Amino acid sequence: MKYSENLYVYPWENPMENNCNSYLIDGEVVTLIDPGHHHLFPQLETEMKKDGFSPQDVGLVLITHPHPDHCEAVQDFLDYDTKIAVHKEADAFLDRYGEQFYQMMGLSMPPWRVDILLDEGELLVGEHSFDIIYTPGHAPGSICIYWREQKALFTGDVVFYQSVGRVDLPGGNGLQLKESIEKIASLDVELLLPGHGPLVKGRGSVKENFYVIMSNVFSMI
Ligand SMILES: [Zn+2]
Repeated sequence: MKYSENLYVYPWENPMENNCNSYLIDGEVVTLIDPGHHHLFPQLETEMKKDGFSPQDVGLVLITHPHPDHCEAVQDFLDYDTKIAVHKEADAFLDRYGEQFYQMMGLSMPPWRVDILLDEGELLVGEHSFDIIYTPGHAPGSICIYWREQKALFTGDVVFYQSVGRVDLPGGNGLQLKESIEKIASLDVELLLPGHGPLVKGRGSVKENFYVIMSNVFSMI
Protein backbone atom coordinates (compact mmCIF):
# COMPACT_ATOMS: atom_id res chain seq x y z
CA MET A 1 0.00 0.00 0.00
CA LYS A 2 1.13 3.55 -0.65
CA TYR A 3 2.67 4.99 2.47
CA SER A 4 4.06 8.32 1.31
CA GLU A 5 5.38 10.02 -1.82
CA ASN A 6 7.12 7.22 -3.78
CA LEU A 7 7.08 4.77 -0.87
CA TYR A 8 4.95 1.62 -0.81
CA VAL A 9 4.88 -0.70 2.18
CA TYR A 10 4.00 -4.40 2.04
CA PRO A 11 4.00 -5.66 5.61
CA TRP A 12 3.91 -9.40 6.20
CA GLU A 13 1.00 -9.97 8.56
CA ASN A 14 0.26 -13.68 8.48
CA PRO A 15 1.47 -15.10 11.82
CA MET A 16 1.17 -18.68 10.54
CA GLU A 17 4.04 -18.25 8.07
CA ASN A 18 7.34 -16.46 8.34
CA ASN A 19 8.14 -13.96 5.64
CA CYS A 20 9.65 -10.48 5.54
CA ASN A 21 8.13 -7.07 5.02
CA SER A 22 8.77 -5.78 1.51
CA TYR A 23 9.15 -2.16 0.47
CA LEU A 24 8.89 -0.52 -2.91
CA ILE A 25 10.26 2.84 -3.96
CA ASP A 26 8.78 4.33 -7.07
CA GLY A 27 10.84 6.41 -9.46
CA GLU A 28 12.76 6.26 -12.74
CA VAL A 29 13.99 2.90 -11.46
CA VAL A 30 11.34 1.08 -9.43
CA THR A 31 13.19 -0.43 -6.48
CA LEU A 32 12.00 -3.35 -4.37
CA ILE A 33 13.64 -4.06 -1.02
CA ASP A 34 13.53 -7.75 0.01
CA PRO A 35 11.06 -9.78 -2.09
CA GLY A 36 10.83 -12.52 0.57
CA HIS A 37 10.20 -16.23 0.17
CA HIS A 38 9.66 -17.67 -3.29
CA HIS A 39 6.53 -19.69 -2.39
CA LEU A 40 4.92 -16.60 -0.82
CA PHE A 41 5.86 -14.24 -3.64
CA PRO A 42 2.43 -14.48 -5.34
CA GLN A 43 0.95 -12.66 -2.33
CA LEU A 44 3.39 -9.79 -2.70
CA GLU A 45 2.73 -9.73 -6.42
CA THR A 46 -1.01 -9.41 -5.77
CA GLU A 47 -0.47 -6.52 -3.35
CA MET A 48 1.93 -4.77 -5.74
CA LYS A 49 -0.56 -5.12 -8.58
CA LYS A 50 -3.20 -3.32 -6.50
CA ASP A 51 -0.80 -0.36 -6.51
CA GLY A 52 -0.15 -0.66 -10.25
CA PHE A 53 3.21 -2.46 -10.19
CA SER A 54 4.13 -5.75 -11.83
CA PRO A 55 7.34 -7.65 -11.09
CA GLN A 56 8.47 -6.73 -14.63
CA ASP A 57 8.33 -3.05 -13.63
CA VAL A 58 10.95 -3.56 -10.94
CA GLY A 59 14.30 -2.24 -12.15
CA LEU A 60 16.25 -3.04 -9.01
CA VAL A 61 15.87 -5.56 -6.21
CA LEU A 62 17.87 -4.59 -3.12
CA ILE A 63 18.57 -7.39 -0.64
CA THR A 64 19.22 -6.49 3.02
CA HIS A 65 20.80 -9.88 3.85
CA PRO A 66 21.10 -13.40 2.44
CA HIS A 67 18.40 -15.19 4.46
CA PRO A 68 15.75 -17.06 2.45
CA ASP A 69 12.81 -15.18 4.00
CA HIS A 70 14.27 -12.00 2.48
CA CYS A 71 15.87 -13.03 -0.77
CA GLU A 72 14.64 -16.42 -1.97
CA ALA A 73 12.23 -14.72 -4.40
CA VAL A 74 15.12 -13.20 -6.34
CA GLN A 75 14.47 -16.13 -8.69
CA ASP A 76 11.11 -14.58 -9.60
CA PHE A 77 12.94 -11.68 -11.30
CA LEU A 78 15.57 -13.56 -13.29
CA ASP A 79 13.56 -13.50 -16.52
CA TYR A 80 13.17 -9.71 -16.45
CA ASP A 81 15.55 -6.79 -16.92
CA THR A 82 15.60 -6.40 -13.13
CA LYS A 83 19.02 -5.85 -11.56
CA ILE A 84 19.75 -7.70 -8.33
CA ALA A 85 21.91 -5.95 -5.75
CA VAL A 86 23.41 -7.52 -2.66
CA HIS A 87 26.34 -6.71 -0.39
CA LYS A 88 29.57 -8.36 -1.56
CA GLU A 89 29.92 -10.35 1.70
CA ALA A 90 26.38 -11.69 1.42
CA ASP A 91 27.15 -12.83 -2.11
CA ALA A 92 30.40 -14.46 -1.00
CA PHE A 93 28.53 -16.21 1.84
CA LEU A 94 25.93 -17.64 -0.54
CA ASP A 95 28.63 -18.68 -3.00
CA ARG A 96 30.49 -20.57 -0.34
CA TYR A 97 27.81 -21.80 2.07
CA GLY A 98 24.51 -21.17 0.28
CA GLU A 99 23.82 -24.79 -0.54
CA GLN A 100 24.44 -25.97 3.04
CA PHE A 101 22.69 -22.98 4.56
CA TYR A 102 19.50 -23.41 2.56
CA GLN A 103 19.55 -27.14 3.28
CA MET A 104 19.73 -26.35 6.99
CA MET A 105 16.56 -24.30 6.53
CA GLY A 106 14.86 -27.22 4.76
CA LEU A 107 15.12 -25.50 1.38
CA SER A 108 17.29 -25.86 -1.68
CA MET A 109 19.49 -23.03 -2.89
CA PRO A 110 17.40 -21.12 -5.43
CA PRO A 111 18.52 -20.01 -8.88
CA TRP A 112 20.54 -16.93 -8.11
CA ARG A 113 22.17 -14.07 -9.93
CA VAL A 114 23.76 -10.87 -8.68
CA ASP A 115 24.21 -7.86 -10.95
CA ILE A 116 25.45 -5.29 -8.46
CA LEU A 117 27.79 -6.05 -5.57
CA LEU A 118 27.17 -3.46 -2.89
CA ASP A 119 29.71 -1.86 -0.64
CA GLU A 120 29.20 0.77 1.99
CA GLY A 121 28.47 4.20 0.53
CA GLU A 122 26.06 6.09 -1.67
CA LEU A 123 23.98 4.21 -4.23
CA LEU A 124 22.35 6.36 -6.91
CA VAL A 125 19.17 4.82 -8.31
CA GLY A 126 17.51 7.05 -10.89
CA GLU A 127 16.60 10.28 -9.12
CA HIS A 128 16.96 8.71 -5.65
CA SER A 129 20.03 8.34 -3.51
CA PHE A 130 20.43 5.66 -0.87
CA ASP A 131 23.18 5.29 1.70
CA ILE A 132 24.20 1.68 2.02
CA ILE A 133 25.33 1.04 5.58
CA TYR A 134 27.23 -2.14 6.37
CA THR A 135 25.60 -3.67 9.47
CA PRO A 136 26.78 -7.26 10.08
CA GLY A 137 25.87 -9.32 13.15
CA HIS A 138 22.53 -10.88 12.21
CA ALA A 139 23.81 -12.21 8.89
CA PRO A 140 26.95 -11.91 6.77
CA GLY A 141 26.82 -8.91 4.43
CA SER A 142 23.77 -7.45 6.16
CA ILE A 143 22.99 -3.87 5.20
CA CYS A 144 20.69 -1.08 6.28
CA ILE A 145 19.49 1.33 3.62
CA TYR A 146 19.12 4.98 4.53
CA TRP A 147 16.92 7.09 2.27
CA ARG A 148 17.94 10.59 3.31
CA GLU A 149 15.27 12.32 1.18
CA GLN A 150 12.53 10.79 3.37
CA LYS A 151 14.66 10.25 6.48
CA ALA A 152 13.67 6.61 6.19
CA LEU A 153 15.82 3.69 7.33
CA PHE A 154 15.26 0.17 6.05
CA THR A 155 16.84 -2.03 8.69
CA GLY A 156 16.36 -5.59 7.46
CA ASP A 157 16.80 -7.84 10.51
CA VAL A 158 19.19 -5.54 12.38
CA VAL A 159 16.54 -3.80 14.49
CA PHE A 160 12.78 -4.20 14.82
CA TYR A 161 10.19 -2.53 17.01
CA GLN A 162 11.67 -3.10 20.49
CA SER A 163 13.77 -6.01 19.33
CA VAL A 164 16.78 -7.06 17.30
CA GLY A 165 17.70 -9.83 14.85
CA ARG A 166 18.82 -13.22 16.11
CA VAL A 167 22.52 -13.96 16.11
CA ASP A 168 22.47 -17.76 16.36
CA LEU A 169 22.39 -18.53 12.64
CA PRO A 170 25.63 -19.17 10.67
CA GLY A 171 27.66 -15.96 10.44
CA GLY A 172 25.75 -14.34 13.32
CA ASN A 173 27.72 -12.39 15.91
CA GLY A 174 26.27 -10.54 18.90
CA LEU A 175 29.13 -8.08 19.32
CA GLN A 176 28.99 -7.15 15.64
CA LEU A 177 25.23 -6.67 15.87
CA LYS A 178 25.61 -4.26 18.79
CA GLU A 179 28.24 -2.28 16.91
CA SER A 180 25.98 -2.18 13.85
CA ILE A 181 23.05 -0.90 15.93
CA GLU A 182 25.22 1.79 17.53
CA LYS A 183 26.25 2.85 14.04
CA ILE A 184 22.68 3.41 12.79
CA ALA A 185 21.27 4.80 16.06
CA SER A 186 22.80 8.22 15.42
CA LEU A 187 21.16 8.73 12.00
CA ASP A 188 18.38 11.29 11.60
CA VAL A 189 15.45 8.90 11.11
CA GLU A 190 11.75 9.70 11.02
CA LEU A 191 10.62 6.33 9.75
CA LEU A 192 12.16 2.98 10.62
CA LEU A 193 11.15 0.20 8.24
CA PRO A 194 12.18 -3.18 9.63
CA GLY A 195 12.33 -6.56 7.93
CA HIS A 196 9.62 -7.92 10.22
CA GLY A 197 6.90 -6.49 12.42
CA PRO A 198 5.52 -2.98 12.75
CA LEU A 199 7.07 0.21 11.42
CA VAL A 200 8.37 2.76 13.89
CA LYS A 201 7.00 6.17 12.98
CA GLY A 202 8.21 9.57 14.10
CA ARG A 203 11.65 10.78 15.17
CA GLY A 204 10.79 10.52 18.87
CA SER A 205 9.54 6.94 18.56
CA VAL A 206 12.61 5.93 16.57
CA LYS A 207 14.94 7.44 19.20
CA GLU A 208 12.93 5.77 21.97
CA ASN A 209 13.13 2.46 20.12
CA PHE A 210 16.93 2.64 19.89
CA TYR A 211 17.06 3.63 23.55
CA VAL A 212 14.93 0.65 24.61
CA ILE A 213 17.04 -1.71 22.52
CA MET A 214 20.38 -0.39 23.70
CA SER A 215 19.39 -0.26 27.37
CA ASN A 216 17.34 -3.46 27.65
CA VAL A 217 17.96 -5.78 24.73
CA PHE A 218 21.75 -5.39 24.47
CA SER A 219 22.33 -7.23 27.73
CA MET A 220 20.57 -10.29 26.27
CA ILE A 221 22.57 -10.53 23.04
ZN1 LIG B 1 17.27 -12.70 8.67
